Amino acid sequence: ASKRRGKNCIAFFDPAMQQEASRLMQLEEELRAALGRRELVLAYQPIVELSQQRTVAYEALIRWHHPRHGWLAPSEFIPAAEQSGLIVALGYRVLETVCEMLAAAVAEGCERVPVAVNISPQQFRDKRFLQEVERILAQTGAPPGLLELEITETSLMDNLESTAAILDELQRIGLRISIDDFGTGYSSLALLKQLPVDTLKIDRCFVRDLEVDEGDRQIIQAVVAMAAKLHLDVVAEGVESDAQRQWLLAFGCRCGQGYLFGRPQIVERPFSGAVTA
Ligand code: C2E
Ligand code: MG
Ligand code: MG
Ligand code: MG
Repeated sequence: ASKRRGKNCIAFFDPAMQQEASRLMQLEEELRAALGRRELVLAYQPIVELSQQRTVAYEALIRWHHPRHGWLAPSEFIPAAEQSGLIVALGYRVLETVCEMLAAAVAEGCERVPVAVNISPQQFRDKRFLQEVERILAQTGAPPGLLELEITETSLMDNLESTAAILDELQRIGLRISIDDFGTGYSSLALLKQLPVDTLKIDRCFVRDLEVDEGDRQIIQAVVAMAAKLHLDVVAEGVESDAQRQWLLAFGCRCGQGYLFGRPQIVERPFSGAVTA
């Protein structure tokens, strides 16, 4: 029978598909258990000023130390977390961990450096999102001004009216908002003008071939020019070479993030130095 099946014919009991489905289910179960243990940890990557290479913020990025598979990157388990809805609980856990760290750092008189946390589309759409953010801030005592939320363009576009209301409230509390992976979605100028956003993070795909691709350079220049008009900050993602840094500087892009400045590092706290008055 299999011989008669056309190339595009979908088999109902595809063993590969079934294997993939059970792999996802197992991952989901393990992720649920991992949330209750200490297998999920945060790595912090610096965001720097391109001219001085001074760190202006950090981004928190999740890692999973799986008991059998070792270290897993988000691409290896975020899909399972999203499919199961676990991403929401996981997202609040990340937020809590970062806020506890910020509060402790402030209490010890460390340098005050903002930290950005990624918010998945599902978490952003969670009914309790604002309530949970406020609860976590109140319980940890983290200064809202040191917390930045990274939300993707697509996630913001989903339901404009509620997006605007949520962002207005977050801004009122004192949080900063970044649009992550900017350029890969479909947001418009009009939208950007309406929303209380602080920063655009230009997606890595425009930075990667910047040195050889005139089209990418034009896109970056256009985004930087637009951001300047709207008084938004710009961060270029995935800066790996000094040549890329030079181009970005020439375009007026103020900040960058990438392996050139530092890889994500698994640490309790990304900064330590107490400020001496
Ligand atoms: P993102 O938010 O766009 O994060 C930037 C990603 O680019 C990170 O990958 C980072 O390690 C990587 N990166 C930074 N600099 C460079 C570079 O110079 N070259 C290259 N090739 N890559 C670079 P990572 O840590 O694997 O995370 C991937 C994505 O997973 C993130 O993309 C974010 O969307 C998601 N993610 C990570 N942590 C969390 C989390 O706590 N919650 C949620 N909801 N999503 C998360
Ligand atoms: Mg991000
Ligand atoms: Mg990004
Ligand atoms: Mg990206």
